Amino acid sequence: MFILSEDSQRTEGRDAQSSNIMAGKAVAESVRTTLGPRGMDKMLVDSGGEVVITNDGATILEEMDIEHPAAQMIVEVAETQEAEVGDGTTTAAVIAGNLLGEAEDLLDQDVHATTIVEGYHEAARIALEAIDDQVLDVEVDHDLLAEVAESSMTGKGTGGLTPAELAETVVTAIDHVSDDDGVRRDDVSVYTQVGASSSATDLVEGIVVDEEPVHETMPSSVEDADIAILDVALEVRTGEVDAEYAIDSIDQLNAALDAEESELRGYAEAIADSGVDVVFTTDDVDDRVASYLAGEDVLVYEDIGSSDVKSIASATGARRIGTLDDLDAEDFGHAERIRTERFGDDDLTFIEGGQAAEAVTVFVRGGTEHVVDELERAVGDALDVVETARESGEVVPGAGASEIAIADRVRSEAAGIEGRKQLAVNAFADAIDVIPRTLASNTGRDPIDSLVDLRAAHESEGRAGLITDREEVTIDDPVEYGIVDPADVKREAVESAAEAATMIARIDDVIAAE
Ligand code: ADP
Ligand code: MG
Repeated sequence: MFILSEDSQRTEGRDAQSSNIMAGKAVAESVRTTLGPRGMDKMLVDSGGEVVITNDGATILEEMDIEHPAAQMIVEVAETQEAEVGDGTTTAAVIAGNLLGEAEDLLDQDVHATTIVEGYHEAARIALEAIDDQVLDVEVDHDLLAEVAESSMTGKGTGGLTPAELAETVVTAIDHVSDDDGVRRDDVSVYTQVGASSSATDLVEGIVVDEEPVHETMPSSVEDADIAILDVALEVRTGEVDAEYAIDSIDQLNAALDAEESELRGYAEAIADSGVDVVFTTDDVDDRVASYLAGEDVLVYEDIGSSDVKSIASATGARRIGTLDDLDAEDFGHAERIRTERFGDDDLTFIEGGQAAEAVTVFVRGGTEHVVDELERAVGDALDVVETARESGEVVPGAGASEIAIADRVRSEAAGIEGRKQLAVNAFADAIDVIPRTLASNTGRDPIDSLVDLRAAHESEGRAGLITDREEVTIDDPVEYGIVDPADVKREAVESAAEAATMIARIDDVIAAE
């Protein structure tokens, strides 16, 4: 009896497990070399020839266009990690891949998938306890957050900026949008601009929009500005332009032109008389209106897109005005400064010190598109980890020290677990070891020797990580070097990796419709 269509493919039992596990492992393996300070970058070229150069695990996996459903689950681990905590994507994917590798060995030794799943769950619980124990007893202040930011940018191309400088900018940005109620992360945006060295990257206390004044003699900078957002076309109404004039004398032509002229002048005067300093309109502005307003020192921007209108409104408190008949100062917004600056071929407008929102923008610059894109990802990760660390107030030692401690704890508790489940719990610890092992091999050290040394140092000194400085690699307490990660990044990595690995290991039947 056939219950499936002839075209569908079915793989069952051990074959199904093996092929899923292999696919998942392969994906995780592909990002392994990017982990840590000496991690390498990948260049991804899509079918259209578009090139992305990155060290970011989530970006790599997203760009790789992975089809295999089990492999796709590892991609989802990285995506979840990115969405939840903003960093640790490579770590999570690599752990998930190794949990799968260990599961494969256990299946070969006839340990049942259910036992593996139970063992992994148990081990994940122990791992989370171990993370709790690793949380540092320190105040998460500005300096510590800068260390968190800097650790997260390790290995990413930061162009001409040192990670320390960039970290300082990131933490200052988060400080601006934080209070006792928490971090308003949405108030921090990143604006990228190609064409200058990255050392020009800066924090703007406000927003940046890609707009230029409609007239070149308008002021390029206005202090203490009253701002209007108009949904009005400042030009002759189209209806009148299209109308056919029955003009048969020069007087009538002049009269028609005068009528136009006075209509336009009426717009300009209404605006000038309202006392507003800066106008953003969603529609067009006639040259004559523009030059009249330029004479009145009013700064005007036209054709503002809806997303820019939204951010200008929310930053300055301006309300959209639909007609010039009631230009009411009540609807005006306010900013300390509005200025337009030219960058290469682009004019950008900076709206700083808006009265309504404390929005800030990290203005990222770099010599090329690739540098800027990678900087944007690095800054995005750093903003997210600083938010994560600030919200929870919990950080743990980085550089593999937490993972050494986790594996150690899981192994020692495994001894008390009965039956074959113990094998799975131990296997989980081995999978966690992949992080310090990979940090070692990516710096050119022998992974096994390093692991042995790290464990010995952990045993005798407590905290031990593989510190990678510019010149050398040493085993020491990462906290003393300012290498710290948010506890939530580690928690999320362990949880989502365990979840994906157990889900994949449990599947023993794959039915694919063609
Ligand atoms: P992920 O995508 O998992 O965040 P990264 O390439 O960003 O991968 O590497 C993160 C790891 O690098 C963390 O375990 C972090 O503690 C570690 N790390 C950061 N800075 C250093 C350093 N100077 N020396 C050693 N390890 C570091
Ligand atoms: Mg990272």
